[in-house]
Amino acid sequence: MDIKNSELFKNQCYINGSWVNADDGSTSNIVNPANSKQLGTVPNCGSNEALKAIKAAKEAYKVWSKTDAKQRSSVLKNLHRLMLEHQEDLARIITHEGGKPLSESMGEIAYAASFFEWFSEEAKRVYGDVIPGHQQDRRTLVIKQPIGVVGCITPWNFPSAMLARKIAPAIAVGCTVVAKPAPETPYSATAMAYLSELAGIPKGVFNVVTGDAEKIGSVMTTHKEVKKITFTGSTAVGKQLLKQSADTVKKVSLELGGHAPFIVFEDANLEDAVDGALIAKYRNSGQTCVCANRIYVQSSIYDDFSKRFTEKASQLVVGDGLAESTQQGPLISEDAMKKASAHVEDAKNKGATIATGGNPHSLGGLFFEPTVLTGVSDEMLIAQEETFGPVAPIFSFDSEKEVLERANNTPYGLAAYFYTSDLGKSWRVSEQLDYGMVGLNTGIISTEMAPFGGIKESGIGREGSKYGVDDYLEMKYISLAGIEE
Ligand code: ADP
Repeated sequence: MDIKNSELFKNQCYINGSWVNADDGSTSNIVNPANSKQLGTVPNCGSNEALKAIKAAKEAYKVWSKTDAKQRSSVLKNLHRLMLEHQEDLARIITHEGGKPLSESMGEIAYAASFFEWFSEEAKRVYGDVIPGHQQDRRTLVIKQPIGVVGCITPWNFPSAMLARKIAPAIAVGCTVVAKPAPETPYSATAMAYLSELAGIPKGVFNVVTGDAEKIGSVMTTHKEVKKITFTGSTAVGKQLLKQSADTVKKVSLELGGHAPFIVFEDANLEDAVDGALIAKYRNSGQTCVCANRIYVQSSIYDDFSKRFTEKASQLVVGDGLAESTQQGPLISEDAMKKASAHVEDAKNKGATIATGGNPHSLGGLFFEPTVLTGVSDEMLIAQEETFGPVAPIFSFDSEKEVLERANNTPYGLAAYFYTSDLGKSWRVSEQLDYGMVGLNTGIISTEMAPFGGIKESGIGREGSKYGVDDYLEMKYISLAGIEE
């Protein structure tokens, strides 16, 4: 791999501070989605290796949970610095294994690093309460303590940021972690493990196990020493992990699928709305859980918006993410290509117009044309399912009430966006959107300083912000008696 520091590229797992292979020596091949070339292999671990990692995390927890907050803060600060020092190499690793344009990968590393900075600060602010006594000789104290060993499962679309968003708060408050990265993108996780060692994070505090998702996931969710599961991925797998975690009554955080509405009211700044929709739709080739999946445009400006949006979408440069001019990389897999095609085909058969794109790209492989569909209706598949590809369906609506009903008519509740210049409408619509996050006059909402997460079937819990540590803490109160002389 063309990186400056080859130490960042690891073909092994990281368990208890050592680089190891699978017990039986088996490996999986990792390929670059832009050209199907093999990048390397990683160990194909299963239950045994997961058990070893949990044991190491349990041992490390005994010491790490008692380490003072300043020390925990300090190693996370180191990791923040190291991530930025190696930003370009780490970004190249993301682009090689996941396909996204290098500029987006650079942004992802900055975003990932920001969680280490933020939670290095929050590590020192895990405050409790002192509650007035309910009897004369009593006082009640509330303290917050780390929950224990955390099992962490992450997806391929933000292989660095999704991991950082989970391990930073966990490590900050004194938990230890066993992480299983997505099979498509293990190298961002192992690179982070390598840097964690340089940052001074002790052995066993952060472990990375690559391999069989079902076997590793099953051990993590059923082991009594794992006190918490944190997962980002599909709703179907999230529900399964929640069920598997039930018997040991684990705390579970889930960040699952989305089906984001993007509403443009007639009083919006049209140019801003077009640009916001473009970034919210085509970032990472449409493969983010907060991507605009249903663009609703008020009928009076429908044609104008569609024309401007289509013009810009058709100019997006598709190619290998490592090429400087590339604005849209490949999709992650054949399945992703099939889903994008199926959504286009279904919409076309039910009367939609393909304003641009609509097909696999002439580059071949996993490249798909940036696509815009107009005349889209609610019966089409694309109105009901997350596309996770570069297909933008534009729906027309007449009234605020109507569009709110349609926007909320989904089991998902992750992100929503709308554009308006009306102050009253800004509040009204924000409050009525059944979503965990709302972008008002913006197509980009993610920051380590805000609580990221969804409602309904899009998830449980929040990541980032001052609330991001809550999922890794248990609350305890101490009822203190005998104060009276
Ligand atoms: P996607 O379809 O986007 O790959 P998934 O939900 O399948 O989303 O994958 C997200 C993460 O969940 C990946 O790390 C994947 O390996 C993991 N995963 C998938 N199935 C299971 C499972 N049965 N148990 C544990 N982890 C799983």
